[in-house]
Amino acid sequence: MASLPVLVLNSGSSSIKFSLYEACNGERTRLFDGAVDGIGTDLGKFWIKDAAGNKLVDQNPALPTRAVAFKLVADALHSGDFPAPAAIGHRMVSGGPTIQENQLITPELIDEMERYTAFAPLHTPIAVYIMREALRLFPGVPNFVCLDTYFHRTMPEEAWRMPIPEEYASIGVRRYGYHGLSYESIVYQLGTETPARLIVAHLGNGASITAIRDGKCVDTSMGLTPTGGIISGTRTGDIDPGVLLFVLRQIAAETPGTAEAADKLETFASKKAGLLGVSGLTNDMRGLRDAIAQGDERARMAVTLFTRTISKWIGSFMAVLGGLDMLVFTGGIGENDIASRAEICAGLGPLGIVLDPARNNVRGEAVISSEDSPVTVRVIPPAEDLMIVNHVVRLLAQ
Ligand code: ADP
Repeated sequence: MASLPVLVLNSGSSSIKFSLYEACNGERTRLFDGAVDGIGTDLGKFWIKDAAGNKLVDQNPALPTRAVAFKLVADALHSGDFPAPAAIGHRMVSGGPTIQENQLITPELIDEMERYTAFAPLHTPIAVYIMREALRLFPGVPNFVCLDTYFHRTMPEEAWRMPIPEEYASIGVRRYGYHGLSYESIVYQLGTETPARLIVAHLGNGASITAIRDGKCVDTSMGLTPTGGIISGTRTGDIDPGVLLFVLRQIAAETPGTAEAADKLETFASKKAGLLGVSGLTNDMRGLRDAIAQGDERARMAVTLFTRTISKWIGSFMAVLGGLDMLVFTGGIGENDIASRAEICAGLGPLGIVLDPARNNVRGEAVISSEDSPVTVRVIPPAEDLMIVNHVVRLLAQ
């Protein structure tokens, strides 16, 4: 195969991240990556770095709209300074109930994904906008959608079905699971070392945990939306539905419309809860660790809720898997927060998970379990963009 430049696009509510890889047979080389950040502000950031980390572009443009932001990316890629992409892969959080396979993007597919905005309301509007713009600004270049739910499509029905009446189940209310490209990338990186029974904890601003048997997802913590599962930066995670009803009744007393009340309830559960809500301080683990060092008890409680919840999920997924061979930590907290890993594993010795404190004193890729721990514990950074490139190459070949 001739070398193929593949552009990866990953859009967030206020940013567009991108990277360009060269794919040649089995080889994948990242040529550069970059981002436009601060969409909706007068002082945004636009940067591009080569693989060695040298900044090729470093600007602070006004980014009043996402159109302006994406045009900067397209203009840079058309400038002749970088290889023109031969194919484009788009990260998509959710394709709703009907789109579960990664595939070629057509205008009709974009319309269908847009109809399911309610499944990922913060992400889908900007993602479908970028897809339409990419089709327009890169004519003739095939675009592919790569879903965060794709890795979880192998879950058995007892894992994805929710205990709700059929009238809601039949319109797609079920567990989908997210962070799938991260999980897939851990299995990919483990390769032949992938054990039969694996648990991966992706702990970043959003946090989730997945049970994997023979390289395939069998259960995961996030549900219909990324708000479910583990407590994370600003989200409750799983919570007694009675809490939502209690809060909704309080909101309803002072809110005229049902839609507006639902928005307020979403703000409560997704944006103001989690580590931020409990600490009253920040959703950022580094900030919380600093506060704990200063004796802040609310920060301490927030982090304790976080680590305790994760320990409980590890135990329950060990029950699902019938034991465990390997536990992997990934994501910003999983890779870097030594104390969180130690606190999560502290009570898990009787389950065969024993960390080596010296080995755990590390940031980035490492084996951190003790020599005689029955379960191997590892830290592996995710490689989501690489997975998107692999999907694009596979789909192009079909
Ligand atoms: P996202 O989910 O937005 O991709 P990341 O995976 O980058 O987030 O993770 C962000 C989280 O990782 C933040 O809570 C941040 O404080 C935490 N983090 C990053 N570096 C460190 C560090 N050195 N020590 C502790 N926590 C860290």
